[in-house]
Amino acid sequence: MRRVYFDNNATSPLLPEVFEAMRPYFFEKFGNASSIHQQGQQARAAVEDAREQVAKLLGARESEIVFTSGGTEGDNLAIFGMVSAGDHIVTSTIEHHAVLNASKRLEQMGCTVTYVPVDRNGVVKIDELRAAIRKETKLISVMMANNETGALQPLEDIGKIAAEHDVYFHSDAVQAAGKVEIDVQKIGCDLLTISGHKMNAPQGSGALYVRKGTLLESMLKGGRHERGRRAGTENLAGIVGLGRAAQISREWLATGGAERMAAMRDRLQNSILESVELATVNSASVPRTPNTANVIFEHIEGEAFVISMDLKGIAVSTGAACSSGAIEPSHVLIAMGLTPDQARGSIRFSLGKTNTDEEVDFVASKVPEVVTKLRELSPLWKKHTQTAIG
Ligand code: PLP
Repeated sequence: MRRVYFDNNATSPLLPEVFEAMRPYFFEKFGNASSIHQQGQQARAAVEDAREQVAKLLGARESEIVFTSGGTEGDNLAIFGMVSAGDHIVTSTIEHHAVLNASKRLEQMGCTVTYVPVDRNGVVKIDELRAAIRKETKLISVMMANNETGALQPLEDIGKIAAEHDVYFHSDAVQAAGKVEIDVQKIGCDLLTISGHKMNAPQGSGALYVRKGTLLESMLKGGRHERGRRAGTENLAGIVGLGRAAQISREWLATGGAERMAAMRDRLQNSILESVELATVNSASVPRTPNTANVIFEHIEGEAFVISMDLKGIAVSTGAACSSGAIEPSHVLIAMGLTPDQARGSIRFSLGKTNTDEEVDFVASKVPEVVTKLRELSPLWKKHTQTAIG
C-alpha cells in the first residue's frame, strides 16, 4: 500500500543528500573530534564545517553554536544553564513540554514562573508578557513557531522588551528552523534552540545558539567539549547531517521553498474546507509556518481519525506526537480557548520538503469519507444533527 507522510512536525525523513554527507563519518572518517591524529583532525574539520552551516542558517557566529542531542536538550540547557534558585522566568502556556516541564522543575527549585496566555489564534499576548517582567526576571522563553498550529510568535517584539528590561531571551525555534527565515540579530534573542530531526537531519542531533558573552552553565559535567558549554564526545555523523540539512534548508528558503510549501498546505486546507462541513483551521488568520494546517473537525474523535487515516496509508496526528496515547486534550488548543471536544477533534497535517501536490490531492480525497464515517458512529454528531433538524 502507498504511504503518505504528513506528520513532519513529529519528525521528518532524512534527505538522501544528508545521509550521503553523513555516511563516511560512520566508517573511514569515524574519528573523535578531540583527538590530535589524522582521524581526529578530519572529524574536527567536519564538525567545524557543520557549525559554519548552522551559524549561517541562524545569522549567528560559528562560536555561538553549541551542538546538542536535539530540541529537548537545547531547551533544557538554555533554561537550566541560565536560571538559578530565586530567579523569575517568563514563558507561555503553549510551549512544548521540553520548556513547560523544565519550568515546572524550576518552580520546585525555588524559582517563580509566569505562564503568559495566548489569544484565540494561539499568539502570545505581548502586553501581558511585558507586564509580567519583574526585577528578579532572569529569562524570557517563548517559542518561535508552535508545533501544533504552526502559529509564529512575535519574537522581534519580545526581543525588544527583553532588551529594554535587560532580561535574557531564549526561543525554542525547533518548529521554525528550516521552514522560515531565522535571524538571531533581528530577533534579538540570546539563546535559540533547533532540532535536527524536524528539518531532515537525523534524530538525536540539534544545536543551541548562545549569544557571545552569555554566561551559560553547562548541564553535563565532563570534558571541555563545545567550549565548556556541552560536555561529551560530539555526535560526529549527526552533526555532519545537521550541517548539510542546514545548508539545504538555506538554499530551499532562498529559492522559494517556503512559498511552494505554503501553496501546497493551502491547497490541502482549502480542499478540506470545501468538502467537509463544520471544519475550521486553527490559527488560520495569523502568520504560520508554511507546512502546518491544524483543523478542527467538529464531532469527531481525533484518535479515531488518525487510526482510520493510517489504515488508508496516511500519517497525520492529533496534537504533539510526544503526547499521543494520552487522553488529555492538547494544552495548546485548550490555551487558545477551544473546548476539550474541539481540541480532541483537531488534526494536525504537517507537510515536509519531500511531499508533492499529488500526495496533497490523495490525502484531501480521503478526508471527507473518513470524517463522514466517524460522524455516523458519533453520538455527538447524532445529537448535533437531531438538534439541527429539530
Ligand atoms: N520543541 C518543540 C517546539 C518541538 O516540537 C519538539 C519536538 O516535538 C521539541 C522541542 C523537542 O525536540 P526533540 O524531539 O529534538 O527533543
